[in-house]
Amino acid sequence: MIVHILLGPPGCGKGTTAKQLVGEFALTHLSTGDILRDAVSKGTEIGLRAKAIMAAGKLVDDDTVNGLVFARLRDETQDVLFDGYPRTLQQAEALGTFLSTQGIETGFVINIEVPESVLEARVVGRRVCSNSDCGAIYHLQNKPPKVANVCDKCGSSLKHRADDSSEAFKSRMVEFNATFQPMAAYYRGGKQYRRVDGNRTPDQVFVTLSQFFKENA
Ligand code: AMP
Repeated sequence: MIVHILLGPPGCGKGTTAKQLVGEFALTHLSTGDILRDAVSKGTEIGLRAKAIMAAGKLVDDDTVNGLVFARLRDETQDVLFDGYPRTLQQAEALGTFLSTQGIETGFVINIEVPESVLEARVVGRRVCSNSDCGAIYHLQNKPPKVANVCDKCGSSLKHRADDSSEAFKSRMVEFNATFQPMAAYYRGGKQYRRVDGNRTPDQVFVTLSQFFKENA
């Protein structure tokens, strides 16, 4: 089993690209944001704790997130594509330790780079399918659904994430800018570390990333 990692700021396209990649390659998409949102909607103990933190655009504590991730990895048989994890140096180190004790390999670590100036409009205009089994991602201007507020794929209604407001976005960027560089430094220099220009269309980004996985097959 191999674990691949997508890194980058909120709105860089990690979720969109991950969904395209798992449609093409035998990968399991593990988004810690999705796992936490699921816990919030189910009202689990972790969800109750995480709800306000997430809505405010802050990070959930490392031990909670690491625990959720390791539990999922223990049950996993396919290669995994992380989206939104790790987000801190502590998470990267804990993941590294976990993977080496389990004999799991780290694959690509892909840093999707997008200038901060374009991220807010991407996030504020984002709409997501309310059906968590679908979770398709739209954008009011860049990728509107065929029928307003209805998912093209499954017909469920679309929603605006609580943390996709302008205010929460700013707080998410503060968290990102405080944590990202030390975490990315943990991976930089690794032979499967890749920087990718994310300031392009989703399809262009997907083509670049697909190339990595094809060459690796
Ligand atoms: P995302 O869907 O990746 O944008 O994540 C949404 C929110 O979930 C973040 O703003 C955090 O509040 C929380 N979250 C997701 N992944 C992590 C993580 N690896 N560490 C801490 N908090 C996280």
